[in-house]
Amino acid sequence: MQKPGVLTVISGFSGAGKGTVVKRLLETKENYSLSVSATTRAPRNGEVEGESYYFLSKPVFEQMIEKDELLEWATYVNNYYGTPKKYVFEQLEAGKNIILEIELQGAMKVRKQYPGAVMIFIVPPSIKELKDRLVGRGTESMDVIIKRLKRAEEETAYIKDYDYIVENDVLEACAEIVHSIVVAEQHHAAHY
Ligand code: 5GP
Repeated sequence: MQKPGVLTVISGFSGAGKGTVVKRLLETKENYSLSVSATTRAPRNGEVEGESYYFLSKPVFEQMIEKDELLEWATYVNNYYGTPKKYVFEQLEAGKNIILEIELQGAMKVRKQYPGAVMIFIVPPSIKELKDRLVGRGTESMDVIIKRLKRAEEETAYIKDYDYIVENDVLEACAEIVHSIVVAEQHHAAHY
C-alpha cells in the first residue's frame, strides 16, 4: 500500500534562510513537493506567479477564506498569507512529503488540525546574522525590516511549540538535518 507523505511545516524568522534550506531540499532529495502559498503581498523582483506565490488581491483572498479553500491562513506584517488545501492533500495521497513554508500563527493552526504534521523551526546562528541577512538581501525597505525583526522577537516565545529547532549555520548541513527528521517521521510508529 502507498504510504502517505509527511506533512512538513517549516517556519523560521524572516531572514533565517529557510527558503534556501527548502530549495536545497527540493533540489537534492527525492519525494518532496512544495506547497505554493497565496498572498496579498506585492511580488518582489524576480518572483514568479504560481511558483513563488499566487499573488492575489485582498477580495480574492477573502473569497478563498470564505469558500474554505485554505488549509490555514494568517496575517503577517499587513498582508494575508495562506496555504491552498487541494494541492497539499493531492501530494500527500501521492506519497509525497509536502513542505509548508509558513509563519508561526498558521503553523499552530496546522498543528491543531493535523497532529501528525512535523513542525520544524529554522534559526539563524545569531540575531546579528539575522539582521545582516535581512539588510544584505536588499528586498525590503528599512521600515519593513524593522517590523520583521520585531515580529521575530515576538515569535521567540513560541519556538518551543515546534517539534524540532534546527540552526542554519551551514546550509548543506541544515538541509541534511531537516531531511533526516522527515525520514524518521516516515517511520514513526504512529503512522502504522
Ligand atoms: P515573505 O513575505 O518573506 O515571502 O513571507 C513572510 C512570512 O510569511 C514568512 O515567514 C513565510 O514563511 C510566511 N508564509 C508564506 N506563505 C505562508 C502561508 O501560506 N501561510 C502562512 N501562515 N504563512 C506563510
